[in-house]
Amino acid sequence: MPGEHGNESHLITPADAVERGMNGPKGEGAECPWCGRVLEPRGVLLNGRVAWAAYEPCGCEGEANAAKEAKACELKMREREKKVKLIRSGVKKRYLEATVDTNEAQRYMERFGSDDGRGLYIHGNVGTGKTYLASAMARMFVDAGYSVVLTTTLAMLEGIQDAYGKETSSLDAVLRFASSDVLILDDFGKESASAWSASMIFQIVNYRYEAMRPLIVTSQYDLAGLEKRISRQGEHERARAVVSRLRQMCHTIELSGNDRRRG
Ligand SMILES: [Zn+2]
Repeated sequence: MPGEHGNESHLITPADAVERGMNGPKGEGAECPWCGRVLEPRGVLLNGRVAWAAYEPCGCEGEANAAKEAKACELKMREREKKVKLIRSGVKKRYLEATVDTNEAQRYMERFGSDDGRGLYIHGNVGTGKTYLASAMARMFVDAGYSVVLTTTLAMLEGIQDAYGKETSSLDAVLRFASSDVLILDDFGKESASAWSASMIFQIVNYRYEAMRPLIVTSQYDLAGLEKRISRQGEHERARAVVSRLRQMCHTIELSGNDRRRG
């Protein structure tokens, strides 16, 4: 292929082949598609013979521009693949460029993986940037190659409920949340309270606790407030158990966010 770079020094030139008494190229060479200069063949050793599979790079401007374009195209494709991954992980379009800008969260990310699957409980009022921060963290995890599920607790429970009696069983749906490398539950406490939802939440939180898989939670409630939310239909024991697990597995961050408003 004319214009193909690569490791030119490993390639055999027609002069090398003559010197080593090996088979020379069949044809003359090929014209550079950009400037028309005739390019010398280049070969590689294959079963004791030279396979003339390439041509020398031309070095002209047209070739350089084409290489630059190919590289830009590749970068764009990688960027797109990354976006698709983020969207599949549950990051909303608005937050695809979010960056971790809270010191405690940044420190958590730096230590991630070295403290027995500890998670994070992020609480703060509406408008303090909880979803933004959760998305930014999801982005860093995806970049680092972890499997991440970012969802609201409400959407998670609805997803599990929808899966009942379908081909993908509710067990698969539960496992998706229980076994991802990182689970980020946004807006915990917003879901409706019932015996079923309290039990489902406990199962998922407890599974992650026992498997030492990190759980990151955002909520407008502090842990005491969350316990009240979960138990508002009388599920006091379950609520206490969930919050007790969260206390054991998570560092806590309170966002005041008086300097920004991101939702
Ligand atoms: Zn050329």
